[in-house]
Amino acid sequence: MTSALLEQSVVEAPATFRVLTGDRPTGRLHLGHYFGTLHNRIRLQRLGVEVFLIIADYQVLTDRDIAERLPEHVEDLVLDYLAVGFDPGRGTVFAHSAVPALNQLLLPFLSLVSVAELGRNPTVKDEIAHSRQAAVSGLMFTYPAHQAADILFCKANLVPVGQDQLPHLELTRTIARRFNDRYGKVFPEPAPMLSAAPLLLGTDGAKMSKSRGNAISLSATADETARLIRGAKTDADRHITYEPERRPEVSSLVLLASLCQDRDPHEVAAEIGGGGAAVLKRTVTSAVNDFLAPIRARRAELARDRGYLRQVLRVGNARANEIADTTLTEVRQAMRSVY
Ligand code: ATP
Ligand code: MG
Repeated sequence: MTSALLEQSVVEAPATFRVLTGDRPTGRLHLGHYFGTLHNRIRLQRLGVEVFLIIADYQVLTDRDIAERLPEHVEDLVLDYLAVGFDPGRGTVFAHSAVPALNQLLLPFLSLVSVAELGRNPTVKDEIAHSRQAAVSGLMFTYPAHQAADILFCKANLVPVGQDQLPHLELTRTIARRFNDRYGKVFPEPAPMLSAAPLLLGTDGAKMSKSRGNAISLSATADETARLIRGAKTDADRHITYEPERRPEVSSLVLLASLCQDRDPHEVAAEIGGGGAAVLKRTVTSAVNDFLAPIRARRAELARDRGYLRQVLRVGNARANEIADTTLTEVRQAMRSVY
């Protein structure tokens, strides 16, 4: 289905869709997350789609520094979700380690993929190349299959993600299809939904990423934001244009300003024109700070009540468990493993 058709069916029949998407609790969410997926999550929820946000806490175990501060990172994610407008009254936030039946799906799912297929995944290859770990764990190698369990446990059929997630989603579709072919239809084949910024670059010109130290987090202060943008990589051409292929770094900054101001990036670039990198960076800084001001204020307000954040998670975990138990029963029946 094309993205225009998909969009039209969501608007016409939001109740026929279920969204699952989420993040690893490896740090605070950044502008790449916001324009890559968060914005779509909130938009879909407001259109009336049921949205599940998963905090993929098992998937950070390999990183010791992060694992030691897990509770703080998990609360930070809940805070970021609520600050950007996620309504926990109409959707579910949960951590996958709290949902045993979800994780059990990983076993039959692993039987449906080959080691060679897992090894070909370009995103996993890239993450392994950039990881700070000396060796690749089995958990890291198989994480796209774990993600299939995350998505399929609640039979989600729509997944708003950034571009790096497309190979994973393809694997989820493959697993769903193979399961259904072998055991009878249980799972949908979920569709990805990309935003207008499926790959926002960070201040060093590589994909903006929590673990690469090149991100502008939603919760950064206005001064930190200005400092980070001042240090962003540009190029030698003084005249500012929007040409993502030829000038990725400059174009990513232009795009960021345009997304924050809801304007056309070519128009933003033309306005800066001969002003060069200095004017570009000033423009981006004020656009980002103006855009994030209300989100930051709301985050600071919510951060005062940690008990409420815990409560949101408790309720979410309970709902996810109910659904996962039902799905696992159905899976075991389909596999004839009910004794
Ligand atoms: P980590 O470095 O720990 O992998 P990350 O910043 O890459 O963190 P993830 O938790 O891996 O973030 O990704 C969560 C979601 O955000 C995914 O859907 C991913 O595609 C999307 N996303 C992350 N970074 C970007 C980006 N720079 N541009 C667009 N989407 C992004
Ligand atoms: Mg990532």
